[in-house]
Parts: sequence; C-alpha cells; structure tokens
Amino acid sequence: MQIYNTLTRKKEEFVTITEGKVSMYTCGPTVYHYAHIGNLRSYIMEDVLEKYLRYTGYDVKRVMNITDVGHLTSDGDTGDDKMLKGAKREHKTVMEIAKFYTDAFFEDCKKLNIKVPDVVEPATGCIDEFIKVISALIEKGYAYLAGGNVYFDTSKLEKYYVFNDFKEEDLAVGVREGVEEDANKRNKADFVLWFTKSKFDDQELKWESPWGLGYPGWHIECSCISMKHLGEYLDIHCGGIDNAFPHHTNEIAQSEAYIGHKWCNYWFHVLHLNTNSGKMSKSSGEFLTVSLLESKNYDPIVYRFFCLQSHYRKSLVFSYENLDNAAAAFSKLAAKIAQLLSQPAGELDREAYDKLRSGFSAALDNDLNTSLAITALYDVLKADTTPAVKLALIEDFDKVLSLSLIAKAKELNSKADSGEELPEEIKELAEQRKQARKDKNFALADELRDKITAMGYIVEETRQGTVIKKK
Ligand code: AMP
Ligand code: ZN
Repeated sequence: MQIYNTLTRKKEEFVTITEGKVSMYTCGPTVYHYAHIGNLRSYIMEDVLEKYLRYTGYDVKRVMNITDVGHLTSDGDTGDDKMLKGAKREHKTVMEIAKFYTDAFFEDCKKLNIKVPDVVEPATGCIDEFIKVISALIEKGYAYLAGGNVYFDTSKLEKYYVFNDFKEEDLAVGVREGVEEDANKRNKADFVLWFTKSKFDDQELKWESPWGLGYPGWHIECSCISMKHLGEYLDIHCGGIDNAFPHHTNEIAQSEAYIGHKWCNYWFHVLHLNTNSGKMSKSSGEFLTVSLLESKNYDPIVYRFFCLQSHYRKSLVFSYENLDNAAAAFSKLAAKIAQLLSQPAGELDREAYDKLRSGFSAALDNDLNTSLAITALYDVLKADTTPAVKLALIEDFDKVLSLSLIAKAKELNSKADSGEELPEEIKELAEQRKQARKDKNFALADELRDKITAMGYIVEETRQGTVIKKK
C-alpha cells in the first residue's frame, strides 16, 4: 500500500516495523463538548485506514487517548483550559463533563460505524507516566523549570519544525488565537510539559509532582500514552491536519528526546471539514453534530458516505446541498442492492469476483483513495456477473467502507414487503390482490396488478414474497 507521509511529504510504500503487525496511534477528542462532524471526518477516515489495514491482513493494535486535562484554548500554551471552560459553562465538575462527552463521542462513533480502538486511555489515568517521562527529559537536559512550570527546550534539538512545508496559516490555527507571550520560555517554540504556576488558580484537577501541585501539558499526554501501549517504535500516527503543528511536532520532539531514536515512521493527517465560512471548530461559530443531522432526518451513515466520496487529503466543504446529494446517491445505491437481494443469486464466479475485488484494493492501495473505492463499488453493481458475485463483493468491501450496505438494502426490502410508505389505495389494492391469489382467482389478481401498475407502481414476485415499488 502507498500512503502519503506528512513527515517525508511524499507517498511511500507502507512497511511496518514488525512484519504483519501495525501499531497505530490516534489523537482522541478533547471531551469538553460534543464532537462536531469535522472532528468526526478525521475519525471516519482513520477508521477506514484501520479497517483497510486489517482487510489486507495486518494485525492492527490501535490506541487512542481521551484528552480530559491540559488542552488549552490555544494549541500553544495560552488561553483557558478547555475542560474547565466546559465545566463552567455547564455548572458541572471537570470529571462529569469528561464522562458525559466521552460517552457522547462513542455514541456518535457507533452511529457512524466507527470502530472503538483497541485501547482508549484518558489522560487523567496516566499521570505517573507523564511525571516519569518529564523527569527523564529534565535529567537529559531537554527540559527546564521556569516560573514553577516545566518547559521543553526546543533549542536542544537538531530539527524542531518537522512538518514545516505546510502553509503557516493552515497549521498554526490555535497558536495565533489570542497570542500572549510566556516570559518564562527560553525560546519562542518551547512548550509546557507540566503546569504548576499557571494563571488558572481555579484549575480543578491537580496532582502532586516533583515540581509541585499541577497538571500535564496536552502534548506530553499523547507521547506517553502511545509509548505506554505501543512501545518505543510506532508505525503510524493519525490526526486532523491542525494537530500537525504544534501538537504532533511537539510529540515528536519530546518522544525522540526521551527515547533517543526515531519514534514514528508514518504520519497520517486528515484535511479539514470546512463550512462556507471556514474551518469547523468547537470553539467558534456554528458546529454541527451527528444528533443535529439526525434531528434533520439524515441517517448518520449518509454523512459517512459523504466523507468517503472525497479523498482525505483534500479539504471538504460541508453544505446541506452536498449532504442531500450524498443522501440521494446513497438511497439509490441501497435500492440497487435491494434489487439484487430479491433476484436469484446464481453462481459465485471466482474469476469475476477476484477481478472486481482487485479494483477496490487498487483504489485503497493508492493512498486510501476512498472516492475511487466507491467507484469500484458502482463498477460491481454495473458488472456483467451474477448477484451472487455482486453481493459477496458488496459484503467484502463493506468490511472497510462500513456503510451497512446489505442491512440498509434489507431494510428497504422489508419496508416494501410490509407495504410501508405505500399510499393507502395501493396498499388496499395489494391486499385485494393477495386475497385473489389466495382464492386462486388469477384473472382478478392480474386485473388488480394492472391497476397498480397504471398507478405508477411495479409489482414483483421475489423469493421473499411480493414487493411493490414506485416505478
Ligand atoms: P479535538 O477534540 O479538538 O482534540 O479534535 C479531535 C480531532 O479532530 C483531531 O484529530 C483534530 O485534528 C480533528 N479536527 C478538528 N477540527 C477538524 C475539522 N474541521 N475537520 C477535520 N478534523 C478536525
Ligand atoms: Zn495527540
């Protein structure tokens, strides 16, 4: 598989450290509010990556943190603590907020068919790890104490700006929001590993440490949680593009300073979901949630389909018009699969199966090109082969796409069977026809069928029974 690596700025062959195994780390949500559908775009695309790696036979171990402390409103070390802000907003404790929004996040994931990572670790559960690593960084001369806080000294590194071919304005979103210089820093790029004397007198969560009562910086959380569960060598690290700087840059700085060698081989970044007015964010403007989409009668899976239709390395503009187009395409897709389900399956032609499957793999092997993978799915539907081949492939592709394709098609068929959503007159005629067939009055049954057809509906006899659909 070829994958774009932000570190080398090119597409590379994906080669793992241990043959057949993948260690994968994902920056989890900051649980001070609901995840918006922008955040979830990143998690959907990372889910596809994980599932595709599994599909190709890798044994994947994926770890995700939950940021429940230390993430300030600016990704630099300024601004308020996001968790504290959330707690104040809702007149709750930080831990209550964390629990509520962690649960809400996983409910959204479930609705979007996003698999829960193998390990999910809240930052507040790893304080001892953070203290251990920070102590070692001080000992090695990579960190210093100033004004009561512990800082990472970026001047000790040969190279700090590892992802700096990005345009500053794409990367430094958080850093520029409300810039305040921290006079304790020796160098502009230095960042906090442990806060004690911060401006948050009312910080709710504090822990004892060798440097006084305090709490960890956001960046150290991900380095430590990754190393705790995946060791000193990591295959692939994921996140949204805004995480590349400063968060991931700082993760690399402190992890490699601590372990003394290269840490992670591939960096996978998902470009943003934007609205017409710019990047969707939790802290500013309208943010759309899965529940909001549901309240407007959108199936969350339609949002997943919408995301898969474009490549993860292109920004994606959200609008209801675009989502409506995805919804229409998805309904058509489900209807086509529903038709297949009601046809005689026929032979499973292995050659046809393999050929069509290779189109799907080729798309995803090429830097996870999900939009081409969807095209490969349409190619299956159009192909001159049996329903058995088509249905087997749809089921196979859906291990990666996770669009619940067969289930959605079955739902359609059972709705059609039960006559749901048919006008009353059609239901009435269908009932009369059923009775006529039971009575073996086939002339009447045919007459009723013609009546139904004349009213714009098709009557089909399938293995599952009579299906009546709009023409
Ligand atoms: P947060 O909860 O703010 O820590 O962000 C969770 C994940 O969502 C991170 O990987 C971010 O990089 C990502 N993210 C934030 N905003 C967007 C967006 N508008 N589009 C796509 N991903 C985003
Ligand atoms: Zn992280």
